[in-house]
Amino acid sequence: MKKEEENLEIMRHSAEHVLTQAILGLFPGIKMAMGPATAEGFYFDFDPGEIKISESDFPNIEGEIKRIIKANLPIRKEEISVEEARKLFKENQYKQEWLDGIGRRGEKATIYWTGGEFVDLCAGPHVESTGKIGPFKLLSIAGAYWHGDEKNKMLTRIYGTCFPTQKELDYYLWQQEEAKKRDHRKLNQSLKLYFLSDELGQGLATLLPNGAIIAEELEKWAKETEKKWGYDRVLTPHIASENIFKISGHVPYYLESMYPPMHMAEKEQAEKDDYYLKPMNCAGHHLVFKSEPRSYRDLPLRIAEYGAVYRYEKAGELHGIMRIRGPIHQNDAHIFCAEDQAEEEFKNVMELHKYYYEKLGLTEKDYYLSFAIRDPKNKKKYLGNDEIWEKAESIALKYIKRTKIPYEIELGGAAFYGPKIDFNIKTVTGKVFSASTNQLDFFLPRAFGLKYTDKDGKEKVPVCIHRAPLGAHVRFVAFLTEHFAGAFPVWLAPVQSMVIPIADRHVNYAQSVSAKLQGQEIRAELDNRDETTSAKIRDAEMQKIPYIVVVGDREIKANSVNIRVRGEKVLGEMSLEKFTNLIKEDIATKRQI
Ligand SMILES: [Zn+2]
Ligand SMILES: [Zn+2]
Repeated sequence: MKKEEENLEIMRHSAEHVLTQAILGLFPGIKMAMGPATAEGFYFDFDPGEIKISESDFPNIEGEIKRIIKANLPIRKEEISVEEARKLFKENQYKQEWLDGIGRRGEKATIYWTGGEFVDLCAGPHVESTGKIGPFKLLSIAGAYWHGDEKNKMLTRIYGTCFPTQKELDYYLWQQEEAKKRDHRKLNQSLKLYFLSDELGQGLATLLPNGAIIAEELEKWAKETEKKWGYDRVLTPHIASENIFKISGHVPYYLESMYPPMHMAEKEQAEKDDYYLKPMNCAGHHLVFKSEPRSYRDLPLRIAEYGAVYRYEKAGELHGIMRIRGPIHQNDAHIFCAEDQAEEEFKNVMELHKYYYEKLGLTEKDYYLSFAIRDPKNKKKYLGNDEIWEKAESIALKYIKRTKIPYEIELGGAAFYGPKIDFNIKTVTGKVFSASTNQLDFFLPRAFGLKYTDKDGKEKVPVCIHRAPLGAHVRFVAFLTEHFAGAFPVWLAPVQSMVIPIADRHVNYAQSVSAKLQGQEIRAELDNRDETTSAKIRDAEMQKIPYIVVVGDREIKANSVNIRVRGEKVLGEMSLEKFTNLIKEDIATKRQI
């Protein structure tokens, strides 16, 4: 942990003590349980007994916390025996339980005094006095089971946070508010991108016309781009026989995340093998490689597909269209290459990611890699032997370092067949979105018996790079919705311009304007509802339509259009031709307006 993070944690942990002290002071009779510092602040669990505490008490509690901070009470550590500690916390079963553990380990109890008034059992460390705690804020209140176990009593949990400066606290609070506003599930109510219904099946997403436009624009972009980068496209089946998934290792290593099998024997057919909905496209692409004899001249062979996969995610983990069960149309490809080509290919894959993300307005400071490796203590979870894993991990790490993109190591996060290199995007709201998963795989080509004839006439096994820079349609649409707060750049906007006639007598002209735009492949619509112009403009703003085209007497006379840009900017009057060129350039350059 960096020194800065460490100091922040110490301060937040101390703030948690002050919160506890404030609550005990204001509500005598409640019992404190425990409370740690977290990545975003701190929380404190307590047993309120008969006392009711709600968010309406926050100003009162915050006032008391302020008083304690202002008093700058010293925070003093003391080591005592478990027996003494038992007396000190004699009516608190939560502390007694904690002390059982300390006693069993034969350790001494450490307690921290805040001034002379408040004491808690704690391993520390803390700031030296309460005055060292920075600006803070209580955030929310929730129920939480003791030890997170639903068999235990439900306690009350108060969340708060603090920062070294007011500026940092304000920024954090802004991010939280912004995240709520940008939530794709909330924006979907006005943008109408998708629907989910349990009637259709839990976690099965339908993209509505607006969402489908975005998904298809992304797909078109990926197909054009990847053609230039040397990929060949294939179309593989959505289901495959069990035997294939046994070879790939998905049966049994990935079974938990797969829909149950289709039993072919029940169809009274000759086939006995079960079929599965594919959770990944890997197997199909490996079979494409295997479908004919390959030589070194064929390599690297880059096989791409917007493959539709299904994954049986746990019901509790489903989240809007960020996490669904299907259909997950992945921007997938598998690159088969010789070992000595792998580094160059890996580098190109990373460059491709950068190209995509920079076009979407993300800069290098917005993303980083996480390198998920095997947990060597839990080898049962993974295919292959130590030798393959050590090789794959050391080579991947070498390549990662050479890309100069910052990275983090994630122990135990690897796929069952190889280490994973995830591209993560930090959004403006501070959330991390895992956009793409890549793997450097020495295992599956071997498992599928893939071979190519090398220059020296010898048969060799290729290496496989799995990659999916734009992730899955649905997930990426959800990410972009939150990233752009629904205000998509013109090329992605479901409706690119809304034409609004001021009065009935302007409808014909408005119609011809919208038809001309449509003729230029611009997604234009006409709003000829019986509403006021200002109401129509407001509705178009709500839908975050990039351009609003208003026409009235003046525009008809001058054969022109009057343009407003989303966000209440006014471009004013111009010829239709000029506007058409402007919007076409927005589309061609994919720029944000
Ligand atoms: Zn503490
Ligand atoms: Zn794959």
